[in-house]
Amino acid sequence: MRFATELLHKVAPDKITGSTTVPIYQTAAYCQDTAENLEKIFVGRKPGFVYSRIGNPTISIFEQRVAALEHGAGAVAFSSGMAAISAAILNIVESGDEIIANGGLFGGTSEFFKELKNFNVNVKYVAENRIKNFAKLITDKTKLIYVETIGNPKLDVSDIEGLAKLAHKNNLLLFVDSTVTTPYLIRPLEFGADVVIHSTSKMINGGGNSIGGIIVTGNKFFGNTEKFPKLENFKKFGAMSYLVRLRANMLTNFGGCATPFNVFLTNIGFDTLEVRMERACENAFKLSKFLYNQKNISVNYPGLENNPYRELASKQFNNRFGTMLTINFDSKDKAFNFINSLNFALNESNIGDVRTLVIHPASTIYCHANEIEKLNAGISDSLVRISVGIENIEDLISDFEQALQKI
Ligand SMILES: *Cc1c(COP(=O)(O)O)cnc(C)c1O
Repeated sequence: MRFATELLHKVAPDKITGSTTVPIYQTAAYCQDTAENLEKIFVGRKPGFVYSRIGNPTISIFEQRVAALEHGAGAVAFSSGMAAISAAILNIVESGDEIIANGGLFGGTSEFFKELKNFNVNVKYVAENRIKNFAKLITDKTKLIYVETIGNPKLDVSDIEGLAKLAHKNNLLLFVDSTVTTPYLIRPLEFGADVVIHSTSKMINGGGNSIGGIIVTGNKFFGNTEKFPKLENFKKFGAMSYLVRLRANMLTNFGGCATPFNVFLTNIGFDTLEVRMERACENAFKLSKFLYNQKNISVNYPGLENNPYRELASKQFNNRFGTMLTINFDSKDKAFNFINSLNFALNESNIGDVRTLVIHPASTIYCHANEIEKLNAGISDSLVRISVGIENIEDLISDFEQALQKI
């Protein structure tokens, strides 16, 4: 089965009624016919549902669909991408541990990593995203390497296969945030990643109508009970130990559960992932070519000939380069004038919508970051981030053309 077929047909939307779309099970709890049955479900001896913080059929089908598409063994959905990221990390780290991450991380994630200092967990960043720079930062305390497939908005591309080898050679785990690539561009588990995270608020939903997050692991999860004491259940559950702990401890005790209605909408958007990704990647590629030939601006897009990550991106992402690009002007005024002159592109703090979105990161997402943090994340006062949508490309290019003439 190829991508879209797998997405649409591998997991049945609802075996009970035959409903074509995944139904909304809008309930807090589930009654069972006998006390014996409820006990069996609670202790995990029988499959079933007890309470929607821990599991819900609408959400369960979404988890199975994402796991199937990632060629993973299972998944756990959360209320947001940040709820998923924080749970993914807290499920494994302990006081004294270190994490190594790429410098171009999404602002929310780097803010969460700052918070981790209060729990004596330190995150070290590589300035330039190269395997050897990660290798240099590994110490006895390092537990995991955390990267984004394509940094948002630095657009640095991580070499997932190389990082997985480096991680496992050093008894570490590799965590990959694949939000901007989705399983359509890469299945990180097949490149050796241990944990894959998505903010489903973005391309997976596609319509910008719900916040959500999900974590997927595979059959080859790298477990080592000595190095990761929290995975004491590894002997019993093997590769599933991380996910079992995630649901039983992180989802159940911290409570950041997804809601059936949000997941219902996300399940519908998810159906069309292939055609949306294909179109948005093609639009981004064409728009980057157009912008590259304009005067007085510089363009960053992994698909451009002069981009240092082009070859890696082409190999890893099957000759596609993502849906995000950035433009650098020579002042904040020009960046603002440009944004204000666009007719179609919406000025908002989101990515992965069917509509093209633009934002000035320095004055918004990174308004609380200091100069060093901004430098690491590739943010300057004259930078504009563009998340390319699925509009007609001729209309998009002429909109960008007229806006550039006005700055
Ligand atoms: C948006 C985003 C997140 C956070 O997801 P939310 O659903 O907004 O909490 C994490 N990582 C990346 C790469 C993102 O773009």
